[in-house]
Amino acid sequence: MRSVQLNLFEAVAEEPPWFKISRHTPASQAKNVLHGRHPMGFGLKGTVERIRLAILGVEPSCRTCAHFRRAVWHDRTYFKCAKAGITRGKATDIRARWPACERWEAPVERS
Ligand code: SF4
Repeated sequence: MRSVQLNLFEAVAEEPPWFKISRHTPASQAKNVLHGRHPMGFGLKGTVERIRLAILGVEPSCRTCAHFRRAVWHDRTYFKCAKAGITRGKATDIRARWPACERWEAPVERS
């Protein structure tokens, strides 16, 4: 198992309450979070836009994003982001509850 090695001098922020860094966290995701970015390296969706979407009844999270994907591999389901790239590796796994990044888009309604 690969361990996470962080350069403490690169850490400019504390982890936010919605993301806990553990020894299982891919180093790339931990680094992005500690730099105030979304774990996938994108900027976080701005507060004003989040409030506007909340008023419209949309929870701006990865789960409600048009780019959210479910990948099934060996009877297990992994959540992925089409914008961040889809691999079979842990570094591209996302969590449905993560707050939306700046690339969030509303899902297209199918009729
Ligand atoms: S594009 Fe969508 S699914 Fe991908 S990280 Fe951003 S909010 Fe999450």
